[in-house]
Amino acid sequence: MKSYDVIIVGAGSMGMSAGYYLARRGVRTLLIDAFDPPHREGSHHGEPRLIRHAYSGHAVYTGMAIRAHELWNELEERMERKLLIQSGVLNITDTQINSFDERIAEAAKQGVHTEKLNADDIRKRWKGLELPNHFEAMYEPAAGYLCSEACVDSYKALALAHGAELLPHTAVCGITARRGSVVVHTRTAKFHGAKLILTAGAWFSTLAPFISLPVRAVRKTVGWFETGSSDFHAGKFPGFTLHTQEGGYYGFPDIGGAGLKIGRHDTGLEWKPGEPLLPFGSLNEDEGDLRGVLGKYMPAAAGRLSKGTVCKYEMSPDEDFIIDRHPHYPHIVVAGGFSGHGFKFSSVVGEICSQLVLDEASQHDIRPFALSRFAQQASPAPSFA
Ligand SMILES: Cc1cc2nc3c(=O)[nH]c(=O)nc-3n(C[C@H](O)[C@H](O)[C@H](O)COP(=O)(O)OP(=O)(O)OC[C@H]3O[C@@H](n4cnc5c(N)ncnc54)[C@H](O)[C@@H]3O)c2cc1C
Repeated sequence: MKSYDVIIVGAGSMGMSAGYYLARRGVRTLLIDAFDPPHREGSHHGEPRLIRHAYSGHAVYTGMAIRAHELWNELEERMERKLLIQSGVLNITDTQINSFDERIAEAAKQGVHTEKLNADDIRKRWKGLELPNHFEAMYEPAAGYLCSEACVDSYKALALAHGAELLPHTAVCGITARRGSVVVHTRTAKFHGAKLILTAGAWFSTLAPFISLPVRAVRKTVGWFETGSSDFHAGKFPGFTLHTQEGGYYGFPDIGGAGLKIGRHDTGLEWKPGEPLLPFGSLNEDEGDLRGVLGKYMPAAAGRLSKGTVCKYEMSPDEDFIIDRHPHYPHIVVAGGFSGHGFKFSSVVGEICSQLVLDEASQHDIRPFALSRFAQQASPAPSFA
């Protein structure tokens, strides 16, 4: 049986990054993935992904986003490849349902520059937006978007260059934990690891009861719509989030004529591993929801649908991340439940996982991500198969 310092189950957004941060320190690392990342089965395809720093909720997110941004820039330098486009991100809300005051205050405390804009300011600056007067925005000029598949691909190239091994197209179907070691089973082989990182994204439920994360996978749809105006082109139009009575949306400018990309953050059908994932267009609301909100707030961007795709969120009950050690086995680190906002952090989450598994402290206060915050945790089992 081959033996490694650390085995990583799930080499997607978080796992691949962790693999790089371990391998570059000379840690003998095996990454195992059911597909060949980057791939189109999990949560990281259909780029781009927003990166913004001014967060609500736990203050740790803002600090982590700042560190994540530094690590993305470092990755770009090492790869000599553009991964992060600083387009600015415009967060728009109906003031009857939300306010940015808390986020703006936290951002200022942590040195993140934001601008608060009223509806008139917004309409003057970005011509394509038709917003009612009771809308406002928080604009973050240093924010932008990440080419997510290229990011995973870059971490993969560097992890392999530093000596990590990757086993693609191989599902892990069993884990046996002992104090201070683990054995990971695939259909045809077994691997011994001194330590283990579990970053299984939308498939975490298949690892129960060895580890029971209260994570629910959800089918999400995104569409690219032809725009009738250069106002929406990259370089002129920012990334955006849009919080309205109709729901929560996010999107990106028209990059190279691909169309304006828009997705819905709330709602979505639950998906269970093993079930088919309905392709885009299977439900009327797949296109209808997106077109409806475009028609209302950005009518010149509600052209022909040029592409649609489906992807998976992994929702934790409170939409906060889970980054912790296994409740019985401290040499096993789990990172999941990224709840539709994890990609921007995947650089720093990889760094954090690499530190935790090597028994080092993280510079970030990750206590809000503890698994123990969920009551009623099923007792973990020593193995699963
Ligand atoms: C449509 C959409 C839009 C999004 N937009 C944004 C955004 O704008 N900004 C943002 O920050 N985030 C965004 N996100 C969220 C972000 O993409 C996810 O939070 C992030 O990709 C989750 O990373 P992960 O590593 O947990 O999952 P993945 O990247 O899917 O990796 C999990 C990996 O585990 C592997 N795996 C699972 N089980 C096993 C097993 N038993 N054996 C072997 N391998 C296994 C899978 O094959 C997969 O490769 C979006 C997500 C979606 C779907």
